[in-house]
Amino acid sequence: MTGLQKCKIGGCDQEVATSLEGEALCRQHFISTCYMRLDWYDELRKGPGLHTTNPETVRRFIHECTRAADEMEHTVEDLDNLDRAKLLHIILSASELGRHLRRSPRKTATIAVRLSSERLGSAWQEDTETVQVSRYGALVRCKHAAKAGETLSVVRADTGEKVTARVAWLRPQPNDDIRIGVEFVSCENFWGLDWGAIEEAR
Ligand SMILES: [Zn+2]
Repeated sequence: MTGLQKCKIGGCDQEVATSLEGEALCRQHFISTCYMRLDWYDELRKGPGLHTTNPETVRRFIHECTRAADEMEHTVEDLDNLDRAKLLHIILSASELGRHLRRSPRKTATIAVRLSSERLGSAWQEDTETVQVSRYGALVRCKHAAKAGETLSVVRADTGEKVTARVAWLRPQPNDDIRIGVEFVSCENFWGLDWGAIEEAR
């Protein structure tokens, strides 16, 4: 991305910060566009239902806006607290929207993984296993105090493959057996499953 490009919103002469669905946007217009879309999907969800729109478009939007907001949050040096809060809010709202979408099937599967958090001052690692997996993430047992919105890395014990994931939610179980839902930030087919066939078999 070159710093010389200008935002594509009419009348805006700010530098491009990222792109969303092929449109080059400055930071403020990225934020406002995300808010508008998230609000619209929220209305849709409360009204006629998210199924009235194309789920693939929604998924792509969630994926793109999360990745862009995450990247900005981590790389932009002159980010003020308000913009940072807005970007985190976008990430969490997008993740919530994702949960409301009828997602690809979940499959009960026990796959050994190592979770690691590189959170400053309280980094941890845990060898654990999945309870359920989906194309976009997994439900994982986790004894550590992961936080919603936190970035974790997930490494498969069998293949050594690694993916970056975000904690979407936490669900405490009896006996302190906490389960966390993680969503991949960007990944093709991490679990190596034939999701098309699994979907058809439903
Ligand atoms: Zn702009």
